[in-house]
Amino acid sequence: MIIGTQYMIIGIWIFFSIIGLGIGSFLNVVIFRMETEKKFWNGRSECMHCHHTLAWYELIPVLSYILQRGKCRECEVSLSPQYPLVEIGTSLLFGGVAYLYAPDLSAIVGLSWIDYVYAMLVLILVTQLMIIFVYDVRYQLIPAIQLRAIQVLGLIWFILHYYQNRIVSDSWLTVLLSVSIVLFLYIVTKKQGIGWGDVELFAGLGFFIPFMWFVPFFFGSFIIGTIWGLTVMIINHNNSLKQKIAFGPSIIVSFVIMYSIIQLNIVPSVNLWYYLIIPNI
Ligand SMILES: [Zn+2]
Repeated sequence: MIIGTQYMIIGIWIFFSIIGLGIGSFLNVVIFRMETEKKFWNGRSECMHCHHTLAWYELIPVLSYILQRGKCRECEVSLSPQYPLVEIGTSLLFGGVAYLYAPDLSAIVGLSWIDYVYAMLVLILVTQLMIIFVYDVRYQLIPAIQLRAIQVLGLIWFILHYYQNRIVSDSWLTVLLSVSIVLFLYIVTKKQGIGWGDVELFAGLGFFIPFMWFVPFFFGSFIIGTIWGLTVMIINHNNSLKQKIAFGPSIIVSFVIMYSIIQLNIVPSVNLWYYLIIPNI
């Protein structure tokens, strides 16, 4: 019996991972058509180089890319590795969300309708973060629609938290403090280091992070950003500090790590700072 239920829960994670593959494939289309300003619900998918319409077997996530060795079947132009990377990334994150909210079958029994809404919110959040991540890497720009979507999701999360616990989450402090600091940096660095999109990204993601996790989340994104920047400089053999490097992806990576740690209830010692500054809470 135990083995049977074990398979069932693994089945649920795999199911969500496969859904994530499909969603990732769709997100690729959205990202490319955002740039060309083509409506993403119009028309069949085609090769961007030779415009040949893709058949169903050329649209299978990851698999088509591997079978075609990363090339278009018609004109043999190289396809962007963004296709399989976004598909795999979305798949892992969807599987991860399923794991966070349903680590075992008994956890599913204990889920309330609010937990399902939470999980749904996080899945939508994943799609928006994936678009921002890729877009920021490609164009050093964060699209306004995605920022607005994340802020709305954050507010819904904040209201749901009150509805469920009858306590106002102190995550508004995370928003206030992180936005204040990056806004200050935005002004001081004259928009060179921090972009307006980064300020707005903190204004949305902060709502998901209780204040006791502010330090690891906020400074974590700067540590990841530094590692990211140095790596890009080494790869490009570029020693100029003036080179523009997207900060959005680092904020997102820090957020994903911190959100997972909070949901999994691990590494409480990360919060030592909080207990030192605000004792008796
Ligand atoms: Zn082609």
